[in-house]
Amino acid sequence: MSRVYNFSAGPAALPEEVLKQAQEEMVDWHGCGMSVMEMSHRGKEFMSIAAQAEADLRELMAVPANYKVLFLQGGASSQFSMVPMNLLRGKSSADYINTGSWSKKAISEAKKYCNVNVVGETPAGQFTVPAADSLQLNADAAYLHYTPNETIQGIEFPYLPESGDVPLVGDFSSTILSRPVDVSKYGVIYAGAQKNIGPAGLTVVIVREDLIGETIAGTPAMFDYQIQSEGESMYNTPPTYGWYLAGLVFQWLKSKGGLAGMAEINQRKSAALYAAIDASDFYNNPVEVNCRSWMNVPFTLADAELDAKFLADAKEAGLVTLKGHRSVGGMRASIYNAMPEAGVQALIDFMADFEKRNG
Ligand code: PMP
Repeated sequence: MSRVYNFSAGPAALPEEVLKQAQEEMVDWHGCGMSVMEMSHRGKEFMSIAAQAEADLRELMAVPANYKVLFLQGGASSQFSMVPMNLLRGKSSADYINTGSWSKKAISEAKKYCNVNVVGETPAGQFTVPAADSLQLNADAAYLHYTPNETIQGIEFPYLPESGDVPLVGDFSSTILSRPVDVSKYGVIYAGAQKNIGPAGLTVVIVREDLIGETIAGTPAMFDYQIQSEGESMYNTPPTYGWYLAGLVFQWLKSKGGLAGMAEINQRKSAALYAAIDASDFYNNPVEVNCRSWMNVPFTLADAELDAKFLADAKEAGLVTLKGHRSVGGMRASIYNAMPEAGVQALIDFMADFEKRNG
């Protein structure tokens, strides 16, 4: 078996140890004679898997007791609607920071339900985030929404927006579990699973209890945090296998020193890659240095004519899914938790060699 280094932005690489454990447990989970995929979600086996995964996530992220942890479906995109449906609570407007492609999608969905105040914005074509003191926050906003890590542009917030009493909502899809985060600063944290949590199909939502229970008229039951919370994320059949795999990833993270351990590794990985890019005239990363993402590293080649050759040669070397998003061009290396340091080093070595041969 030969596994490649997969730099996909999502669905993304999973830790090999986790895949092997899932493989061992696939046909007969812990001697119960069936796969996790075949279990009733209400049986004691799956209930224990679900409870352990929640406990491990709470421990990893130090989630305070007054927060619910939900394991839902619909991806981060469904949270673009669930957030306004649940958090408006009688108010008519919400504040949004627009830093790139995913903020824009969240904003266009929220506009269906409320007035959206864009309180800070990354100018078109730039790769930065608005300065903390430039945000024009509204005290009567139902919440402030932002995207701590823009997966496509590869920019990340170097600061935590201070929203005072207005609940802060973060789309953590591409940065959750990459480092410790102070959950108590947030009203809602949400993330699609397919980058740093597990397989696609699972969405994790962490929501402060006092913010749930009042939805806008017509909110579907599936979109109601209160109903999902009362049903312990089993209002309908939950994504059981994704939930189980997420649980294996949480245990893997604990074995690696938790989020503080991950932060050190992720910091080293990204610093090494940016240093290699910056040391060369052949490669360029467009992002302002203090906003550079630890997770998604876009870079261009001085001569775009070489892009196709770069991708083909990289693939030959076992380094795959490096093509950049069509809106940014060039390359993008997504280096989430499951990308080992050896994978980043292999990419750096390949880039140096490619430059020598083609520069
Ligand atoms: N937000 C961010 C920051 C993302 O990176 C993505 C997926 N790439 C999404 C939202 C959408 O996630 P999903 O496909 O799970 O709906």
